Amino acid sequence: MIKQLTRSLCALTVAASLSPCWAATDPSKIHDSLVVMDTHLDTPALLVQPGFDIMHAHTYSDDFSQVDVPRMDEGGLDGGFWVIYTPQGPVDEEGFEAARDTALLRAMAIHKMVASHPDTFALAKEPEDAKNIAAQGKKIVYISMENAYPLGEDLSLLDTFYKMGLRMIGPVHFKNNQFGDSSTDPEGPKYDGLSPLGEKLVKRANELGIVLDGSHAHDALVEDMIALSKTPIILSHSGTKAIYDHPRNVDDSLLKKLVESGGVIHVNAYGSYLTELPSDPERSKAYGVLFKQMGDIANMTAEEVAALKAKRKQIDLEHPAVRATFEDYMEHFLHILEVAGPKHTGVGADWDGGGGVERMMDVAALPLITERLLAEGYSKDDLADIWGNNALRLLQQAQDYADSLDQ
Ligand SMILES: [Zn+2]
Repeated sequence: MIKQLTRSLCALTVAASLSPCWAATDPSKIHDSLVVMDTHLDTPALLVQPGFDIMHAHTYSDDFSQVDVPRMDEGGLDGGFWVIYTPQGPVDEEGFEAARDTALLRAMAIHKMVASHPDTFALAKEPEDAKNIAAQGKKIVYISMENAYPLGEDLSLLDTFYKMGLRMIGPVHFKNNQFGDSSTDPEGPKYDGLSPLGEKLVKRANELGIVLDGSHAHDALVEDMIALSKTPIILSHSGTKAIYDHPRNVDDSLLKKLVESGGVIHVNAYGSYLTELPSDPERSKAYGVLFKQMGDIANMTAEEVAALKAKRKQIDLEHPAVRATFEDYMEHFLHILEVAGPKHTGVGADWDGGGGVERMMDVAALPLITERLLAEGYSKDDLADIWGNNALRLLQQAQDYADSLDQ
């Protein structure tokens, strides 16, 4: 009740543009003092692009990237979970083989980033690594996998990726696969949640100490994972249906189940999941053609990549993007915080994977979130949980369970 009152008074002072809310001290100092992590960094997709150098400063308007070391420094981002993403292809042997190679190369690109810049990055595997790495002034690199499709039907590959540092895994992406149902498959659910192989994936992930990620999964699959997993699950980049009814978001009853089971949701900044955006068929068509041309980007020359980016800029000029706003993002965030609480909420903005809203198009703008949450009356301790402790607690629980099995 007192906190509610504090929040309302703070919101009032902010709305009236009165100087900083009395409940907060200097937001930038607080932000800098925290271990700040995002649980869904799609930046490894850029690491394999010829010509991209993560050590150099880029701008979104110039090359559409959202994360690099100078911007991480500017936004106080210490790191997080760097994603091995593989698009969903045919669920057959040939598809599995191609996807496995893509995923292994992506994992190697992450390792290469760390190995090439040992003074800047460090690989994190244990929950306590995050604080130690940040204390050394380095960037935290946990590895996660978005779409378990590349594992094929051979779960021993999960052990291989675990040995490469994998600590979080989401079974599906845009479509159903061998592990279960996606929230966005145009055909609808096939298994009504996890497939029998998906159940084995959950069991093996638990045994290894890998956190399970329900983002992109069908609600039934999220429920199955909550019921089956021995340790709490994460939604690494998701929103709320209460603000915008999209299959990628979860409703309050599922959110409450997640929280009751100890789970955590990290709030996504992917515009078309945040609010209804006007459709622009011309822009979609032009982007469709461009993305097809970008399909094999890893095998292009730096010049070819630059030419495609110039084409993309031209499309943006002719058919400007209509973006969701920072306020749209915060509406999701504040509702989720209200329902789930600060011990079960975090940030997973889908950087370099489609995330970004007006005023927050790259990680340099992350202090805006801290500033806004302090203005809403959330404390420094809440912020510490939101920016890192919650995800690390899940990792600790996953590893404690694996250790308890005494394999
Ligand atoms: Zn995603």
